Amino acid sequence: MHPCLTCGACCTQYRVAFHWMESDECTGGGVPAGMTERLDAHRLCMRGTYSAPVRCVALDAEIGVRSRCSIHPNRPSVCREVDASWEFGVPSPQCDRARLAHGLPVLTAAHWRWRDDAGNDDDHPDDNGNSPTSPPVTPIAA
Ligand code: SF4
Ligand code: SF4
Repeated sequence: MHPCLTCGACCTQYRVAFHWMESDECTGGGVPAGMTERLDAHRLCMRGTYSAPVRCVALDAEIGVRSRCSIHPNRPSVCREVDASWEFGVPSPQCDRARLAHGLPVLTAAHWRWRDDAGNDDDHPDDNGNSPTSPPVTPIAA
């Protein structure tokens, strides 16, 4: 099983900020405006992530047990840009930090053997906002 499906830690650690144009008020299929709040003149952030304690309003999870993003197809770009550690062959400091904050072990290459064994690493069945093709943009730490 994809490790993100039993985690969700990164959705409770960072301010999830993005340009207001990503809102569905501006862009079809964008981030539901009702789940956002204004951060500054140019940016929105996901409700629940503006200040500590951080927990994104869109997160449906019991951290470390089960996790899903309730707006997965419409999640902000910044969420797509956080990779899980070793999912694509390199560590992810944001993933590691988030997991450690919840007392979860950091991911290793061994956590991806299920995928390698199945030979199905083309579809990246991620439920928490990671994308193999996204550029490395760092979310703003809360
Ligand atoms: S990217 Fe890392 S911290 Fe975020 S849900 Fe996946 S395993 Fe957990
Ligand atoms: S992936 Fe979904 S639940 Fe996690 S921070 Fe982004 S919008 Fe929120």
